[in-house]
Amino acid sequence: MSELNDLYQSVILDHNRRPRNYGELAEADGKAEGRNSLCGDELTVWVKRDGGTIADVRFVGHGCAISKASASLMTQAVKGKPIDEAEQVFERFHALVTGRTKESEGLGSLAALGGVSRFPIRVKCASLAWHTLRRALGTDAVATDAPVSTE
Ligand code: ZN
Repeated sequence: MSELNDLYQSVILDHNRRPRNYGELAEADGKAEGRNSLCGDELTVWVKRDGGTIADVRFVGHGCAISKASASLMTQAVKGKPIDEAEQVFERFHALVTGRTKESEGLGSLAALGGVSRFPIRVKCASLAWHTLRRALGTDAVATDAPVSTE
């Protein structure tokens, strides 16, 4: 685990210990389950929409610190945001964790996960919550300029 030490920044540790928006969302209108079999991470994400806005989002799951912290950070990043804005955040976040860019402007606390780009196997851990969110929202089938990888 020593190679991962510098991934475990205080933000990640904090969100792993005290995940935000954790627990089932009773009045959800979207739900999806995600699994990263390479690491054993499992997440369930619930969303509630208000028109084109993500009114509420919650998750439960278990797995490594990266996957859990990423899910917690994801819920904070998209809650109350228009869905298309959340999609843009996902695109920027995905570019950062896959190493396509080092630009983390506008990503706030999500930038703490930028270090995973140096550990390809961890990219799936960091991306799992977002792919699961997009399935819950039904936006995973929407074509984007750059094809979304399977990570
Ligand atoms: Zn993991």
